[in-house]
Parts: sequence; C-alpha cells; structure tokens
Amino acid sequence: MLKVAKFGGSSMADAAHYLQVRDIVLSDPARTIIVVSAAGKRNSSDYKITDLLYLCHAHLKYGVPCDSIYDTIRERYLGIRDELGIDLPLEDDLDALFAEMKAGISEDKLVSRGEYFSAKLLAAFLGFDFIDSELWVRFRFDGSIDQEATYEALSHAAAGRKAVIPGFYGVMPDGHIKLMDRGGSDITGALAAAALDADVYENWTDVSGILMADPRIVKNAKTISRITYSELRELSYIGAQVLHEATIFPVREKNIPLNIRNTNEPENPGTLIRDSFEDDVPTEGSLITGIAGRKGFTIITITRNGMSSEVGVIRKILGIFENFSISIHYAPSGVDCYSVVVENKQFEPCRYSCLAELQKEIKPDHIHVSENIAIVAVVGRKMVFRTGSSGRIFVALGESGVNIRMISQGPEELNIIIGMKERDYETAVRTLYERFIH
Ligand code: ASP
Repeated sequence: MLKVAKFGGSSMADAAHYLQVRDIVLSDPARTIIVVSAAGKRNSSDYKITDLLYLCHAHLKYGVPCDSIYDTIRERYLGIRDELGIDLPLEDDLDALFAEMKAGISEDKLVSRGEYFSAKLLAAFLGFDFIDSELWVRFRFDGSIDQEATYEALSHAAAGRKAVIPGFYGVMPDGHIKLMDRGGSDITGALAAAALDADVYENWTDVSGILMADPRIVKNAKTISRITYSELRELSYIGAQVLHEATIFPVREKNIPLNIRNTNEPENPGTLIRDSFEDDVPTEGSLITGIAGRKGFTIITITRNGMSSEVGVIRKILGIFENFSISIHYAPSGVDCYSVVVENKQFEPCRYSCLAELQKEIKPDHIHVSENIAIVAVVGRKMVFRTGSSGRIFVALGESGVNIRMISQGPEELNIIIGMKERDYETAVRTLYERFIH
C-alpha cells in the first residue's frame, strides 16, 4: 500500500501545523511520499510566502530594494525551524538565495524556493529524504509536462524511499526551473501518485472536502462524501474551486482514487473521488451530488427562417466565434434558431465586430443578445436512474420564481445546466440545495 499525501499552504503555515502534519503522516505507514506547498497564510491578514516571493521579484525587476520582504520570508521559515527544534542549517540556503537574487535570478527559480524550503524543513522534521522536483518533473519546451519522462524519473528516484517533495515546479529541457500555474502543487502531487502507481492520492487542505454548494450562498453546506471524476469535472468546469483543474488528469488516467482531507480535522473522511462506485445504490441517497455555478455569461441567439435545413450554417456561426477567440460554453438550439452561451469577459471587447460578422455571414432574421446570465450546473450520477429528475428540478425553480432562460442536459444525464438572470442565481442555488440535498 502506498499513499501520496499532498499538504497545501495552510497545512504548512506554521509550527503548529507541522506538528499536525507529522501526526497525520506517521499515523499511517503507507504515507511515504509527501508533497508540500510553500507556507500559506496563518490568518486572514497574513501573507502567503509565494506571494511575497513574487513581490520580491517585482522589486528586483525595477531595482527597488526588497530586503525587508526577504527578511519576512526568512524569519517565517527559521521561526518554524526553531520552534520545532529541527536540526537544519537553513541559513546557508537562505543566504545563497539572497546572493543569487542580487546577481540576477529568474522569477520561476525565486518563487519556487517557497516550496523548496517547506519540503526541506518537513523532510528534516519527519526524518524523510528530500527529493527535489527539479530532478523529476520534466517540462517540454512548449510548457507541457512530459509525463513519461517525469514518471520514469520519479519511479527511480523514489523507489523504496520515504520522501518529501516540493510542489509547484519542475525543470525545462535546458535545466531552468519552471513554475506551474498557481495552485500547482496539487498537480505535483497527482503526478507523483501516478508515477508511483499509488493506491490513493490524498490532498490535505483546510476544508473537509468538496462542498455540495457554495458556502457563501448556502449556509452550512454539506460535504460531498463520494463523487466520480466526471461529476467533479462538471462541477469545477462551471465554478466549484477545489483543486487545480489539471490535477485530475494524471490520477484519473491511472484510476487512482483521490481523497480530499482536512489537516485540522484528520478524523473526517473528507471527499473521495474515483472513477465509479461499484457499491452505489442508484435509487438511494441524494439525487444531486453537487451544485455549482457562476455569473457573467451572455446568450446570443441567432434566428433565421429555414436555417435548420441548411447544411453548414452552424459551422459558420461557430467559426465566427472562433475567429474572435470566444469560447462557447453551451450551444442549445431550436428549429431555425441557434444559441451560444459565452462569457461576458470574452464577448464584450469584440461585441460589435462579432455581431456585425454574424449579420454579414449568416444574414439572420434576428439576433438577440441576453446579458447578465448566470449558469447553474446541477450534477448527479444518480439522476439518470430516476424518472422525472429534470421535471422536479424545473418545478422547484418555477415555484421559487426563478425564470429559466436556457436548459441543456448533457448526453450522459450527469448534469443539467440551467441559465437564468443573474439576479435569480442565489435563489436558484438555495432552492435546489434545500429541495434535493438531504
Ligand atoms: N504555492 C503555490 C501557490 O500559492 C502553489 C501551491 O500552493 O499549490 O499558488
């Protein structure tokens, strides 16, 4: 049994959290590969080390001294070390970095040191080895990750070892350090789990899993205990923010379950994500697994008599949006009319040129633009088994006075997408939660 456990910034924020992390790691001998983030915020007015490192680089770039910011970073790590009595001469590394900053350092290298110092400290604290991600996370020149080379390098480097690994960065073919996107340590953890064919990838954070709805809208929203990878993809596509999106691919590809856990509440089983749940009873439990959504959409409806029987017209419409680099999220259609749902922030800057192009190329009878649209995705693998699911959902929304502007159901009946005016968004989410989640 091998578990890869990734601890996020809040779990690495201070000495008290290091103690919790150590208890968690040592309580299960299968937790042998640990991936960490840089130290995060200790409270809401605190700073993330990653942000401070970006800030240092911005100062260096414009020739403004950043000594006091660097001192804050330095004290944060030395403070954790001294409080825990970890035997590690981190000053050498910190001094060398400061000298490198004076001489000129790339942003990626500098910012990556946040996870580097976290991993060094935790490795010494646990008595584990330190494996630098520079040695195994391999990028290609185009910025994508060379999975094959990455997996091979780690399976050699980590074989039979207990190790702590820094998240968030890897190496380019020319030896330079490259950062992933923000939140990228989740990806490092997933790559490590996939490389080592782990039995589970545990992602330890400061919440007890994925919530069934946005807690800013639904008070005390419950945690999803089990969700499939496909359901999670649907939820995160439209707004649920839990993990970096690219996290899922490496573990899903290898069918490795992903377990989101709370460092501050280790007895809570959190959310388990896997490909399917064989012991699912389709007719039992909540109809809905989760609800997610977002404001900021526009629906553009193009109508022309006889359009439906014309070959190639949809391709032409899509081509126009493509030329303006506007991505289409949903495309419900009717007889002789075709709608596209796009994001305001992509559509607004080229609104008039795009509409003019549609007018010229498609010659519609009518183009209707409906702004301030919110989209809600109701996701549930059990909906397919229960007759009348969508009917019940629409009745509930109708009774709450939510006027539905668009409906789209995925072919697998895993999700129902509902478009409405932004002002109805919160009511819709609350209604769906109260009626269908128990
Ligand atoms: N420290 C990085 C960030 O703040 C990466 C991570 O924590 O996943 O984005």
